[in-house]
Amino acid sequence: MSFAPDFQITQLQHSPITQSIYNPCMLGLALTGVATLGAVAAGYQSMAPTGQWYGRTFTGLGRGTKQIALTYDDGPNDPHTLRLLEVLAQHDVRATFFLIGRYVQLRPEIAREIVKAGHIVGNHTFTHPLLIFKSAAEIRQELSGCRSALQDAIGEDSSLISNLFRPPFGGRRPAVLRIAREMGLEPVMWNVTGYDWNAPPCAVIEQKVAKQIRGGDVILLHDGGHKHMGADRSQTVVATDHLINSYKSEGYEFGTIPQMLEGRA
Ligand SMILES: [Zn+2]
Repeated sequence: MSFAPDFQITQLQHSPITQSIYNPCMLGLALTGVATLGAVAAGYQSMAPTGQWYGRTFTGLGRGTKQIALTYDDGPNDPHTLRLLEVLAQHDVRATFFLIGRYVQLRPEIAREIVKAGHIVGNHTFTHPLLIFKSAAEIRQELSGCRSALQDAIGEDSSLISNLFRPPFGGRRPAVLRIAREMGLEPVMWNVTGYDWNAPPCAVIEQKVAKQIRGGDVILLHDGGHKHMGADRSQTVVATDHLINSYKSEGYEFGTIPQMLEGRA
């Protein structure tokens, strides 16, 4: 699962607390307020998918670009990942999957199927912890654990396993991004959230996505659930079918994150 708060940082900057800073009687309160806002903002930036305070991360191409990248987190998941692969194949669309290492160990054959179908697989840690609370050693262990699981399942051929990494819950701080890059991994976030982790009806997922699409988008969806294998992702599978139909008819092309990154270069 990954999540993002529903508010924007710009809204915080217009709050009454910051406006009261010019009243001397309010100064103490205001400073406390500013400190609190700072902490809230810092917390927000550590989780917000498009926040860049803690280091540059890829969140999509320029607004208006007629390209969309579908990304799926928390797999491989039995049986929904395979059903999703069928839908993507029907549309001849390639997507990007951020896999959890311990699930790859449980279902290596599904990880192989994803790669065989031409999709991109990336690193989503071994056990899906919130990395902002982990030590440097633990962060390294999570990233290398997932990498080893992917190599055991798919093979050592580095062309089959991408260097892309998505932090669980979107949580990061400078150390998380630095360690990932030291290990040769490129952090990838997103700009459109499908809010599908609680398995809402497909229409809800589609509406949430439609409200955020502006072109050049990276859409966050889930083919698995980080709490257990077998999470129901049938509605995400149906939503994927509908989203591809709808945005292809509007002239959008669907591609993988590496394809998007090439386009950017
Ligand atoms: Zn996740």
